[in-house]
Amino acid sequence: MPAESVRPRAASTLTVREFQQLIRAIYFDKDRRRGRDGTFRWLVEETGELARGLRKGDRHNLEEEFGDVFAWLASLASLEGIDLAKAAQKYVGGCPRCGSIPCVCPEQPARRSSPRRRTQDK
Ligand SMILES: [Zn+2]
Repeated sequence: MPAESVRPRAASTLTVREFQQLIRAIYFDKDRRRGRDGTFRWLVEETGELARGLRKGDRHNLEEEFGDVFAWLASLASLEGIDLAKAAQKYVGGCPRCGSIPCVCPEQPARRSSPRRRTQDK
């Protein structure tokens, strides 16, 4: 796909699907060569950088780290043939467990390894 066809008009109007298509256009060949496991490791690495950014509280840096995590998540989703916009549909009707917006489920006790595992908790 030619790069121009996926280049967004403005970042502020980017949909989740457009973002995934853009990241795919930029990186898919590299992502495919690296493979799923290597790409997943990069996602984890960038998530660690986001964690460090959250601790520091540097707003500019945080925005970059969120963007990087989102880009690596999009890369991994594309490698697995997952449409992130479709995956996000899970939450369109509100909390998948209680069906409310906002969620009215009782707070789950935090898990040491993964306090917000949505597929498990919701
Ligand atoms: Zn809920």
